Amino acid sequence: MPDDLSDARNQVAIANRILANEGVFDAFGHVSVRHPTDPGRYLLPRSRSPGLIEAADVLEFNLDSEPVTPPTVQLYAERVIHGCIYQARPDVMAVCHHHASAVMPFCISGIPLIPVIHVAAIMGATVPFWDQRDDFGDTSLLVVKPEEGRSLARALGPHYAVLMRRHGATVVGADVRELVFRSIAMCQNAESQMRALAMGNLSTLTPGETKLAAASNLSPNPLARTWEYWTARAQSARR
Ligand code: MN
Repeated sequence: MPDDLSDARNQVAIANRILANEGVFDAFGHVSVRHPTDPGRYLLPRSRSPGLIEAADVLEFNLDSEPVTPPTVQLYAERVIHGCIYQARPDVMAVCHHHASAVMPFCISGIPLIPVIHVAAIMGATVPFWDQRDDFGDTSLLVVKPEEGRSLARALGPHYAVLMRRHGATVVGADVRELVFRSIAMCQNAESQMRALAMGNLSTLTPGETKLAAASNLSPNPLARTWEYWTARAQSARR
C-alpha cells in the first residue's frame, strides 16, 4: 500500500482504468482501496464509469460507507459492498466489484468456478456463490443496504472472490496490484474453463499446484510486471 493519500488516490484511479481497459468493467464496476493510514476508512470514486476515473474523483468513506465529507456528487449505490468487506476482513486492503461477461455464465448456472489455469491459482481453490434470495427474497439484485453488504461479506468468508447470482462478482486483495491481477486472471480462467468444458475434458489444478502457483504469481516480480503492463495498456488506450 502506498503510505501517501495522493498516491493511494492515483492507484485507485489507475486500477479502475486498467480493469475497464481489460474488459472486466464496462459502464459499471468499481475498485476501492483501504485508506493508507486510517484502517477505518476506504477510498472509492464518485459514481462514474470506471474507465473515466481520475484521482480527483476519489472520495473517502468510513466503514459504514458514509462519505467523510458531505458529498456534492453522485455516489455509487453499491458502496456497502466495500465497507462491509473492510469491516469483516482486516487483511483486505482492496476490493473490486464487477459484472464481467466472462463470469456471468457461472453466476447464472451456479456451476463452480475452479482454477484451471496457473495464473488463476490466485483466486483460490474455492469461489463461493452468493444468492441474495437466501436472505432477502426478491430484490433489485443491487447490494445497497448494510445488511445486504454484510450477507455478501459472510458468503465471501475467508476466500478471495465471491460470485453473485445473476449479477457479477466481488474480488478482494491484500493490495491493489494483487487485486487487479486476481480480477483479470479470474475472468481469463472463466473463459478457459468454459472452453475446456465445451471440449469435454475439464480438470482443475491440484490443491498443491493451486497453492504453489498462487505463491509464485504473488511474488514481487509478477506483481510488478503485470501492473506495469496493464498500466501501459490503459495509458496508451487513452491517447
Ligand atoms: Mn453491481
